[in-house]
Amino acid sequence: MAVEVDRGGERFDGATVTRRVDGLGEGPLGSDRETIRRWIRASADEIAGSRDFLTQLDAAIGDADHGINMDRGFSAAVTDLDATQDLRAGELLIRAGSTLIYRVGGAAGPLFGTCLRRAGEVLTDAETFGAEELLKAMRAGLDGIQGLGAAQEGDKTIVDAYAPALQAFERELRAGGDAASASRKAADAAREGMRATVPMQARKGRASYLGARSVGHQDPGATSTALLFAALARTLEGTG
Ligand code: ADP
Ligand code: MG
Repeated sequence: MAVEVDRGGERFDGATVTRRVDGLGEGPLGSDRETIRRWIRASADEIAGSRDFLTQLDAAIGDADHGINMDRGFSAAVTDLDATQDLRAGELLIRAGSTLIYRVGGAAGPLFGTCLRRAGEVLTDAETFGAEELLKAMRAGLDGIQGLGAAQEGDKTIVDAYAPALQAFERELRAGGDAASASRKAADAAREGMRATVPMQARKGRASYLGARSVGHQDPGATSTALLFAALARTLEGTG
């Protein structure tokens, strides 16, 4: 079904029309509330599939609850999708973020929850969004995480997977890629960033209490982050 949408004087047919994205190449305006719904489901799948692994990682340098917490939160977000048929993309993210804040607990709940809420605030009024809006939303999400947790790259946290993913996403867009190829590059970079946390000494969160004993273990939050970016790539490539 081709729906004509009038958005601030810019008319397009949701199915076929593309536009210049800030002079960076053609990008389809194909992302909408369904994209976000699929991403929440794909994320919940990824987290559920790695629930025990995430908890094992947290057992080594934390308190063995990360997988359980994240699975509870994303399961609740998926259940909540049934009640959110009318919400737009940004509103969906804000609501999912609130669910994570209330249901995940620990450090990760407020951090990922704030991330989604900030990203949602960027998208909130749009019926559809392109790769540049997604980039802005992702950047706002990272700003939210760092505003709350004050972690920098190298501190062995979520930021060590997220920051390189965001950079890779932007680099691919600037090279003329679309949201799908950019999200694949972001997922690969998040995975590399996750692996790079192994030799780091934790300087934030519970793992920092271990000092040098935190070295040699992969960070659970960076691992969850890599899973969420993998879910985004699957979603935007249409395979998730
Ligand atoms: P808790 O440590 O309270 O049990 P979780 O186990 O759910 O919380 O999450 C632990 C993860 O949270 C860590 O692996 C780390 O990636 C992330 N984290 C902790 N503190 C911060 C912070 N200040 N900034 C970013 N991420 C953090
Ligand atoms: Mg924990």
